Amino acid sequence: MDNRASNSESAPTSGLALPEHEVGPVDPDLAGQMAEKSDRELLDMFQSPDDWTAEALDAARAELQKRNVALPSADESVVPPPLPENPPPLPESPPVRAGAMCAQHPKVQATQQCRRCGGFMCATCDFAFPGNVHFCPSCISKADEGLSGKRKTLMIWSYVLAAWSTVGMACLLSGALRGMANSKEEQTALGWVLLIFVLGPALTGMSLGITAKRKNVPNPGTLWIAIIWNVILVASFVLLMVIGLTRR
Ligand SMILES: [Zn+2]
Ligand SMILES: [Zn+2]
Repeated sequence: MDNRASNSESAPTSGLALPEHEVGPVDPDLAGQMAEKSDRELLDMFQSPDDWTAEALDAARAELQKRNVALPSADESVVPPPLPENPPPLPESPPVRAGAMCAQHPKVQATQQCRRCGGFMCATCDFAFPGNVHFCPSCISKADEGLSGKRKTLMIWSYVLAAWSTVGMACLLSGALRGMANSKEEQTALGWVLLIFVLGPALTGMSLGITAKRKNVPNPGTLWIAIIWNVILVASFVLLMVIGLTRR
């Protein structure tokens, strides 16, 4: 027993016996504890994986590999039966290492790995984005700090242009400009003024906001507000033009 325990502390674990289970470096203390256990005790650990930490299970797996004891269908026994409120991970998502537990909920099997920090998370903690992108709660809350200076400038301009267009739109809606246009020439001129002061800035603000947006990382809510604000302005301008044209 003693001999075995000291062996496990000095000798690096080899994955030769069961190459499909890649086990990282095992904590020497844990490896020592696992060396004290019988084969039966080690195998029993995988019958109730929720009672053990991921590190302990890894150490047990390494010890079983060292003893050349096959772990019967390890992956199936480690994964607990899926709970109805926890949807299974998307089929195209990279498989999470068996025995990995959620960083926030140490008793819950992890279903995803955070794209940004690589932390494991369960279905409850998972923030899924289009394109099978997943982020943990702490990385989501950090997203607001993630805007670089250049993107921040783009976002500020997006807001300025949206505000500018809103003022132009308010003038249009209040009829302040409409009363000025009596002749056909004046109406044409008014059309150009609106194009320059409402549609142009809103379109520019929208494209600036979209430029500042990043595809595969979460974008701060403030950026989305800038984009949506400009989109609403463009949409309402188009709507007003359609109404104006049908009235003529
Ligand atoms: Zn993260
Ligand atoms: Zn969790």
